[in-house]
Order: sequence, then structure tokens, then C-alpha cells
Amino acid sequence: MNLVTVDVEDWFHICGCGGPLAEEHWERLPSRVISTTERLLDCLDRAGVTATFFVVGWVAERFPQIVTRILGAGHEVGSHSARHRRVYELTREAFGDDVRSSVRALETAGADAVRAFRAPEWSINDRAPWALGELVAQGFSVDASMAPLRIVGDINYPRHPHLRSTPRGAIVEVPPLVADRFGHVMPLGWGWGLRMSSPRRVLATMERANAQGWAAMLAVHPWELDPDPPRVRLSPRLHFSHYFCLAGFEARFQEVLKHGTFTTLGAIEQAVRSAADPCVFAA
Ligand SMILES: [Zn+2]
Repeated sequence: MNLVTVDVEDWFHICGCGGPLAEEHWERLPSRVISTTERLLDCLDRAGVTATFFVVGWVAERFPQIVTRILGAGHEVGSHSARHRRVYELTREAFGDDVRSSVRALETAGADAVRAFRAPEWSINDRAPWALGELVAQGFSVDASMAPLRIVGDINYPRHPHLRSTPRGAIVEVPPLVADRFGHVMPLGWGWGLRMSSPRRVLATMERANAQGWAAMLAVHPWELDPDPPRVRLSPRLHFSHYFCLAGFEARFQEVLKHGTFTTLGAIEQAVRSAADPCVFAA
């Protein structure tokens, strides 16, 4: 059993991007999050797949109907922070305030018991060792923010769902799918790695994870299904991560949805917690 997650953010919610896409300009930029989220919901509906949607608080505040629509279609809702800032660039207090604000926005929009978190740009890592404890303190029971990948995370992080102990209690951590290719670890379950890979390769990698007893987690963004995405000048790294292999991605993703077997984050959390001998790591 595997898992589809969606980070519901607008095309201009890009971490580390100032200039015309800086936060003070967001209100004036043309939002495309409603139409692209609808497209993604249609894909999931056609395949009969239930997913977990991590919604940015900024989006839930302005477009609460998106949250209603996601819940109405039977999906789970979690937090993708309030202002889409990298966790390790915040103090613990600022992170705590941001998370509380996101939960308020989601609950006002109709979500109740928000207990799952996804950090912007997988930014819960060794640079923010306090973050999981803060999430537990605020009542979160599952996190999906730690990527076993260089730059955004660490290739030594576990590749399977596991428990992380914190001074405030344990939290279930669900990492995204990676694969070993050409001597490197690549993000096969999200971003450019997912967009450039054939559905056959993605499905085979998911099956290999399943054969080891692990659930494979995929992560997509509504803007990756935009048929006409706004193009802006970005650094070479951001340009690659945002624009590489967008063409035809929706059809490839639909194939993965059609042939894969998926469950919910809640079910995976329960499986980890009820395991006779869950793998426990210190946060
Ligand atoms: Zn994001």
C-alpha cells in the first residue's frame, strides 16, 4: 500500500524566492490554485484514489472553498504551514506561531483535528532539531517533512515510515520515495524525479519498497498540472525544480494512479503505531 500527498500552494509559493515573488506581492499575483487543485482532484477521482492534502494556511484563508472541496471528495487535510517558509530559517517560537496560524486557517475553512504536517521544501532536518517536538506539543501525530535526500535532507534518513521520539512524545514520520540511480539518490516520488520518470519505473520502485514492507509516498503540487504555468526568472536550481519535465506529467501521473495501490496517511500512521516492534529514531 502506498500514499499520494498533495502540497496545496500557488505557483508563486517558492521558498527562497524574493523579488517579484516575495511574500509582500502574493496578494497581487494572479492565483491559479483553484483551477489546478480541481484538475488534481479530477485525476484522483478518475483513479478512485484517496490522498492527503497539505494546504498552505495562506491559501485556506483566501480560498476556504478549496478545503471544503477536498474534504467533500473524501480526502484528508493537513498543514503545509501558514506562510510557506522553510522551518530551519525560523526560530522555534516563530515556527510554533506559523503552525498555529495554519491550523486556525484550516479549521476556519472546515477542517477539524488537523494532525498531519508537511514542511515547505522538506525543511525539517538537522538544522531544525526542535521542529518535531514543537509539532507534538501542538497535537500533531504524523509528519511527512524529512526527505532522505541530499541538500533538502540527508541520505541517511530512514526511507520507510517510522516513529521519531521527541522530548514531548513520539510522532510518526513518513518519508517520500527515493531511488538509487547512477550512484546518486534521486527524488523518484516527487518533483523533477517523479516528473521525468516513466510510470513503469515509478510503479516498479514502489513495488520494491512494498516488497521490503514499506509504503511508498508520492508528493505532487497542483501547479505541476497547470497546462499553462506562468513563467518567471528563477535561479538555475529553482528553475529546474519548478519547470523541468512539466510537459505530459499529468498523463504520466494518471497512469501511476491507475496502476498503483494507495491508502491514506492515517492508515499508515496507525500501522506504524500498532506495529509490534516499530523502528524508533531520536528526533
Ligand atoms: Zn510547498
